[in-house]
Amino acid sequence: MTEEIELEQLPGVGPATAEKLREAGFTDLMAIAVESPKNLAELAEIGESIAAKVINAAKKAANVGDFEVGTEILERRKSVMKLTSGSKALDELMGGGFETQAIVEFFGEFGSGKTQLAHQLAVNAGLPVEDGGMDSHTVIIDTENTFRPERIIQMSEALGKDPEEVLSKIHVARAFNSNHQMLLVDKATEIAKEFPVGLLIVDSLTAHFRAEYIGRGALAERQQLLNKHMHDLLRFGDLNNAVVAVTNQVSAKPDAFFGDPTRPIGGHIVGHAATFRIYLRKSKGGKRIARLIDSPNLPEAEAVFMVREGGIGD
Ligand code: ADP
Ligand code: MG
Repeated sequence: MTEEIELEQLPGVGPATAEKLREAGFTDLMAIAVESPKNLAELAEIGESIAAKVINAAKKAANVGDFEVGTEILERRKSVMKLTSGSKALDELMGGGFETQAIVEFFGEFGSGKTQLAHQLAVNAGLPVEDGGMDSHTVIIDTENTFRPERIIQMSEALGKDPEEVLSKIHVARAFNSNHQMLLVDKATEIAKEFPVGLLIVDSLTAHFRAEYIGRGALAERQQLLNKHMHDLLRFGDLNNAVVAVTNQVSAKPDAFFGDPTRPIGGHIVGHAATFRIYLRKSKGGKRIARLIDSPNLPEAEAVFMVREGGIGD
């Protein structure tokens, strides 16, 4: 986090500009420092040359952060927790569970089990640490209206947990469009001040973006917003020592940019920002196959798990 310097203290920023910046949500110097002049001008409704000046001043004033030596990073890594999926095979694939301070992306076609996994993780996050949980609350940003408390009840009962208690620790918000979806991350940060939030789910990460930004002309803007969204999510994970789980579809119709029908939406932007990418597909007899595609420290491999009435298992 950057130090609290009033925007007015930046050279060349008067009270009117400061007010416009604040109204546009720019209260943090770092957020200004990393914007492009064009974006900042548009978002804060200020001239582009003023925006460029403000960005330069913010870059100088913001605490951009220092390099850390490996031992310091190792120390921070010690606070990383691992959340169980409910399947031993899937946990093993992930080196013992889903890590906090990281984004895991589940992608796959319709019905591949992305939403089921999201539900199970929300239930498991409330479990005690010794049972693979995090003793924590969950925030779900639901963009497709697929959250079902009935499923949470079934999964809780399968674990012998009081469904009411489990449900009371899962905070769900419907996102009506991509803009709303992005704003809800700020809201999640507020919830995390009141409750220990160990898991943030965005299901689906890309559906709204895909529906709203159609065609080649809109691609650059879509990718830019997705990029910002992913970084906001990662920041949430870092600040709260939380797991961030997002779901993504593969494009059944060729994407405007990525013609391959089995490629996840959002392409390289989402792929680079996600710490772990897992490709899910259906197999015979209710089986699901999870393939770990991209990981900073784990081999590419597959695991088989099941989706049952009682939830995710082996
Ligand atoms: P998506 O990847 O599109 O989000 P879902 O995670 O919603 O897909 O997976 C839906 C599938 O989950 C269903 O087709 C079914 O196989 C399985 N499923 C959903 N509810 C149950 C249940 N109560 N019992 C067993 N399997 C279920
Ligand atoms: Mg779904």
